[in-house]
Amino acid sequence: MSSSKERIAIIGAGLGGAVAGALLQHAGFDVNVYEQAPSFSRLGAGIHMGPNVLKIFERIGVAKKVVGISSTPNHWFSRDGISGDYLSRIPLEGYGATYCTVHRGDLQGIQCDALQPGTLHFGKKLIRIDDNGTDVLIEFEDATSVRADIVIGADGINSRVRETLLGAEKPNYSGWVGHRALISSDKLRKYNLTFEDCVKWWGPDRHMMVYYTTARRDEYYYVTGVPHPAWEFDTAFVPSSREEMASEFEGYHPIIQALIESTDEVTKWPLFNRNPLPLWSSGRLVLLGDACHPMKPHMAQGAAMAIEDAAMLTRCLQETGINDFATAFGLYEANRRDRATRVQSVSNANTFLLTQEDPSWVYGYDVYAEPLRTENAA
Ligand code: FAD
Repeated sequence: MSSSKERIAIIGAGLGGAVAGALLQHAGFDVNVYEQAPSFSRLGAGIHMGPNVLKIFERIGVAKKVVGISSTPNHWFSRDGISGDYLSRIPLEGYGATYCTVHRGDLQGIQCDALQPGTLHFGKKLIRIDDNGTDVLIEFEDATSVRADIVIGADGINSRVRETLLGAEKPNYSGWVGHRALISSDKLRKYNLTFEDCVKWWGPDRHMMVYYTTARRDEYYYVTGVPHPAWEFDTAFVPSSREEMASEFEGYHPIIQALIESTDEVTKWPLFNRNPLPLWSSGRLVLLGDACHPMKPHMAQGAAMAIEDAAMLTRCLQETGINDFATAFGLYEANRRDRATRVQSVSNANTFLLTQEDPSWVYGYDVYAEPLRTENAA
C-alpha cells in the first residue's frame, strides 16, 4: 500500500462507511475506505431502508438498483402477537421515495460497488491512530500504515476511533437479544395463512418483526426482541434453535408458530447501546453511525441514521471545503445530533408504530432539503 498522503480515510465499510465513501467521491473528494474483514461476506439478515435513505441512494445512483432487489411493502402492520388483532396499519407510501426491505448482504454489495474501483481496502484492521495536528497516521494490524488529512470513524459500535477520542468503554448490554432467521418462502406454502409483507408482532415483553428480503418474495425474514438477562458470550452472535424459539414464543399466534416450524437456522444477537456521546469529533477525527450513536434496532433506523450522517457530513464538507474541516465537523454535529438522539431514544424505548401514528418525521425527512443550522443555532 502506498504511504502517500490522502485526503479522507474512512474506517469501516459497513452500511454507513460505504455510503459515506461513495457520497464523498461523488462530491469530488479523494477518499479511501479501510475495512477489517478479509473480504465481503453476505451476512444472513434482512434490513429496512426507508424513504429517508432512498433519497440519499439517489445521489450515488443506486436507488433503482436497491428498489429492484427489494420487497416494497405498502404498509407496516403492527399486530397483537397472541390474538393477531391489528394495533396499527401504517402506510409506507407518500414520503418522497420507496420503502424497501432487503437482504442486508445484497444491499451492502450494492453500496460497496458504488465506491470507485481500488478505493476499498479489505483486511485493514485499524489498531492505532495518531492525529499530530498536521495530519493523521493510521496503523493497521497487518503492519501497514497510511496518512490522511481527516479520518471518519464508521467502525461500528466497538469503534476504535471512538475509543481514541473518548477512551475505552464497553457498550451497554440492553438486556435484550434479537433472533434472526431467513426462511425460504417455499416452506410457507403448505400453510393456509397469509404472510404479510411487513408486520411486527407485539407481545407484552417481546416482539417479532417479519418481512420479505427480495423483490421475488422468495425469502422471508424474522428478527426478534426478547428479554435475556445477561450476554454471557464473547462472540457477536451465537446459534439459537427452533426449540429455543418455540419456548420463547409459546402460545403466540399461529403465523409465528408456522415461522418457527419452518426455521432451519436461527442465530441470537445481543442488543447493545450507548448513552449519547459528549463529542462527535475532535481535531481531524469524526464519527458516524453506530460508532457515534448506537441504538437498539427497534425502529429499523440504525443504519438509516448512519447513512443520513454520511450525507450530512458530505454536505458540510462540500459547504466548507476540506481545509476547514473543523467548521464542517461542527456544522455536521449541529445538524445531526438532535435527530440521531431522538431516533436513538425512540428506538431504545421500542414504541415506534405500535399505535396508529404518523411516521413522517422519520420517513419524510430529506437530508438535502433541511436548511443548514449553524453551530451556534444548535
Ligand atoms: P456497521 O454496519 O457495524 O459497520 C462497521 C464496519 O466497521 C464493519 O464492517 C466492521 O467490520 C468495520 N470495523 C470495525 N472495527 C474496525 C477496525 N478496527 N478497523 C477496520 N474496520 C473496522 N438498521 C436499520 O437501519 N434497519 C434495520 O432494519 C436494522 N435492523 C437491525 C437488526 C439487528 C438485530 C441489529 C443488531 C441491528 C439492526 N439495524 C438496523 C442497525 C444497523 O445494523 C446498524 O445501525 C448499522 O449497521 C450501523 O452502520 P455502521 O456503518 O455505523 O456500522
